[in-house]
Amino acid sequence: MYEDLSADLANQITRRFEQIMDNHTRADSTLKAIVKRMRAGKATQMDVNKYADFVGRAGSSAMKQVLKLEALPDATMYREIADQTITPVLERMWQNVNSVALNQMKAEDATKGLNIGIRTGFKPTRRIAEVVNMVAGQTTQEAIDNALTDPVIATARKYYDDFLMENADLRESLGFNQRVIRHYDDKGLHNGKTPCEWCLAKEGEWSMEEAHANGVFNRHPGCGCTIVVFYPDHTDVQVDWTRNEWSSV
Ligand SMILES: [Zn+2]
Repeated sequence: MYEDLSADLANQITRRFEQIMDNHTRADSTLKAIVKRMRAGKATQMDVNKYADFVGRAGSSAMKQVLKLEALPDATMYREIADQTITPVLERMWQNVNSVALNQMKAEDATKGLNIGIRTGFKPTRRIAEVVNMVAGQTTQEAIDNALTDPVIATARKYYDDFLMENADLRESLGFNQRVIRHYDDKGLHNGKTPCEWCLAKEGEWSMEEAHANGVFNRHPGCGCTIVVFYPDHTDVQVDWTRNEWSSV
């Protein structure tokens, strides 16, 4: 019913998102340094975490700048409009995060002499639906903006969490023991007024089994935790693989 309006708004959002990313890549010293390291094949997983956060913030700003109540029929964010306007940019954000994550992992693998296939993170259908559900039906600008802030930033970061988790699962299944490290952001909730017990319980270093059992790859809106996967020492793994215990029996 509102296809033309939705398509127009979706285009505006995606264009705005690209502009914000371009501007930040030129003007923001942190992002500039990250992009430089990426191009040199020297980016770290912490860099990708930070990059995903930038992508989330850029996407959030773009959506909030375009999705104004006065532009919506009946001053209401109908579900159909929410879905059609924000899905394209959330997909674009997923592609951005995954391509950077893929390049980082390839480069990190190369330094360790590893050559393992890399999966791109889960298709973001469910992640996108979660954001659409929060935005749909809102009738005030404040409620729309809130739904388009922390949940969107968390979604971009989850794209990278998903990528890391899926690849860590794959590598674990191939016999490479993976260690997951979660850093607490030391801010917690309510602008640092309350420690986040939920995140504190997930802080530290875990095996994959422990990480899954404790939901270490999960993230809430407003969560500033950083998740990285520590690669095992490749040499140790090779030694294990080449040692033939049976021949000495
Ligand atoms: Zn938390």
